Amino acid sequence: MNEITRKIQEVMEQSDYKAKTVSIARLPEVQEAVGELVRQGLVSKQLHEKWSFYLDTNKDRPETQTIVIVAIPQPITRVRFEWQGTDHPADIAPSSIVKADESHVEELLNKVMKDAGYKVVRAHLALKTLAVRSGLAQYGRNNISYVPGMGSFLRLIAFYTDCPCEDDNWQEVEAMKACENCSLCRENCPTGSITDNRFLIHAEKCLGSLSEREPDFPYWVHHQPDWPNALIGCISCQSVCPVNKPYLQKIVDRPHFSEEETGLILSKTPWDELPPDTRQKLEFSESNYPLLTSNLGALIEKQNKIVGR
Ligand code: SF4
Ligand code: SF4
Repeated sequence: MNEITRKIQEVMEQSDYKAKTVSIARLPEVQEAVGELVRQGLVSKQLHEKWSFYLDTNKDRPETQTIVIVAIPQPITRVRFEWQGTDHPADIAPSSIVKADESHVEELLNKVMKDAGYKVVRAHLALKTLAVRSGLAQYGRNNISYVPGMGSFLRLIAFYTDCPCEDDNWQEVEAMKACENCSLCRENCPTGSITDNRFLIHAEKCLGSLSEREPDFPYWVHHQPDWPNALIGCISCQSVCPVNKPYLQKIVDRPHFSEEETGLILSKTPWDELPPDTRQKLEFSESNYPLLTSNLGALIEKQNKIVGR
């Protein structure tokens, strides 16, 4: 491992992050991997267009030589909504959280690279593909990426740098060993998205994947007995996974929403018309706000039903 890669890993690990590097020469393979997902209908055209746009922007950076991919631990986030005199807790899947520690990672990386005379810019790429192909993560049977020491409770972020790549970690995709004799995620998936006969999940049925792809959920989602099990996304397969056991109790509490704020969200008040204080409390989910407004009513209804209200 060269000195700069060692230094990157060292500073990231000091903050509980993990990092790997791959050569920019791997970019066409990342593009091909994404193209394959589109051909199989596992990624929406819209998402693909966005990725292609970002991949094209690389042409404006001929000096780029290395991609750095970083995993940030991201515990489950819990928010609370007051509604009709009752407190309603609601969890958010780790992959649905935005912002948090990303600028801190960028700051750390900038420091290492600047000291060595190199530049760093954010790279918007197919992060899960990069993480598993760089050896940073492994796939679980549920097609979610797992990083040692974090389980699947993490977020990924990538950067381009003009630092020459002396540690190209590109490798074949690896599945977690723990999955060999386990099928808990398959047994607990509310939509049967995980099957025995193929490694790829049926993303067209996966609630977590649909929440990233669809502006509104198909009608059948609302008839699932386990729907919704989170405020944004689905966490069934991650909560039953034995690999995640050590991280399940670590929950980040976010601000409480008053009766009035909950009413505004339930009535789908447009983002710009929310009071500034409420918007600030919701900053962790700004891009997911339309999803949040749709799911909150369903979640409150489900919680009321469970306790017979
Ligand atoms: S629940 Fe079991 S099979 Fe599924 S991802 Fe976790 S370890 Fe693998
Ligand atoms: S996120 Fe939910 S729907 Fe998707 S595979 Fe996991 S348990 Fe099934």
